[in-house]
Amino acid sequence: MDFALSPEQRALRRSIINFARAELGDGADDDREMRFSLDGWERCARFGVLGWPIPQEFGGVGLDPLSTVIAMEALGYACRDNGLVFVINNHLWACAVYLQQHGNDEQRKRFLPKMCAGELIGAHALTEEHAGSDILSMRTTAVRDGDEYMLTGTKTFISNAGIADVFVLLARTGEPGRRQDALSAFVVPADSPGLEVTRQWTKSGLRSTPMGEVTLTGCRVPADNLLGREGDGYSIFTSTIEWERCFMFANQVGVMERILEDCVRHARRREQFGRPVGANQAVSHRIADMKVRLELAKLMIYKVGWLKQQGKIALAEAAIAKLFISESHVQAALDAMQIHGARGYLAEFGVERELRDALGGTIYGGTSEIQREVIASLAGMPGSGRV
Ligand SMILES: Cc1cc2nc3c(=O)[nH]c(=O)nc-3n(C[C@H](O)[C@H](O)[C@H](O)COP(=O)(O)OP(=O)(O)OC[C@H]3O[C@@H](n4cnc5c(N)ncnc54)[C@H](O)[C@@H]3O)c2cc1C
Repeated sequence: MDFALSPEQRALRRSIINFARAELGDGADDDREMRFSLDGWERCARFGVLGWPIPQEFGGVGLDPLSTVIAMEALGYACRDNGLVFVINNHLWACAVYLQQHGNDEQRKRFLPKMCAGELIGAHALTEEHAGSDILSMRTTAVRDGDEYMLTGTKTFISNAGIADVFVLLARTGEPGRRQDALSAFVVPADSPGLEVTRQWTKSGLRSTPMGEVTLTGCRVPADNLLGREGDGYSIFTSTIEWERCFMFANQVGVMERILEDCVRHARRREQFGRPVGANQAVSHRIADMKVRLELAKLMIYKVGWLKQQGKIALAEAAIAKLFISESHVQAALDAMQIHGARGYLAEFGVERELRDALGGTIYGGTSEIQREVIASLAGMPGSGRV
């Protein structure tokens, strides 16, 4: 077992940190204004970020899974605009990777080169008003009509809706009920007739990522836009969710490292009672706990990257990584707020933004409770085995 990064991986990490520090803003204004940074997006596209996991033949960089984890971690560490990274996460892990893994060659050639170049922004439309954790209860329907499908329903809490050009969308092609083969996955361009973004939500964190509601009123898409076969939607979702749960959270490991460094710097500089606040064990032990969680999070995310590199299934490991990282990230941001005192609480210093940005991670990609369900079920507990 070798825990060392290769010289190429170390160089990759260094180049991403240099790029993000030099070219990407801190996102403070975008957070305040709830504004997506198109400039940051285009810079990331030019640097290759949007094609990291996509093979070169489809316009990507073709990084292997472990190097991709390291790259996402470095981006999270060095880019303070967590909302911009979340736009990229949704584009890559909840849309482009679906197409790469489950699209046919024609679909890949049609969408992936433009997605890697940043000309198309991707999104993932799954959740509905009545179908959050329980996706099998979704009501959006897709009815075959000649060479087309007609989609009807409403998807909500969809990240990137409003800026997205293309959605990977799940809809019901089978009878109502909880059958897994009743769902199908489609690639739906945002300009399809009958598709409308009908609402924008106001989020507490990740505010530079737009989130909206997508209404489909007899929306017509060519039958060629079906991913896999009719009825494959749920199995496509479960096989891709492993990637989402690992790679979408790699950046959070980088954020945790940045938060820890900010806290160490502050605890060494800030003096009260004639000595640095970090000289108190109550503070330094909090730092120690942050460091322990960071190191464990790194091990877990690298392990899932390594498993995917071997082409292995990592359903349990991805759920463990997602659960541990998202909860540790929230805890790191809470610790940072306490260590920074009033400066942690005030908007001017950026620490409270880290907390707001962290909170959603225990909800999207499957809530913490659902991850525990998955882990318990795979550990042999009787239960639902929900994904
Ligand atoms: C920042 C953010 C971005 C998002 N982006 C997207 C996106 O791009 N595309 C998309 O489709 N969706 C997106 N979502 C929606 C997200 O996937 C859902 O919020 C999530 O699946 C949970 O659904 P819900 O909010 O309806 O909660 P519910 O399912 O209603 O759950 C409410 C509470 O009950 C708990 N609960 C539910 N069922 C069980 C159970 N069986 N056992 C134990 N506890 C249970 C949950 O864990 C939760 O605590 C996003 C959400 C957030 C916060």
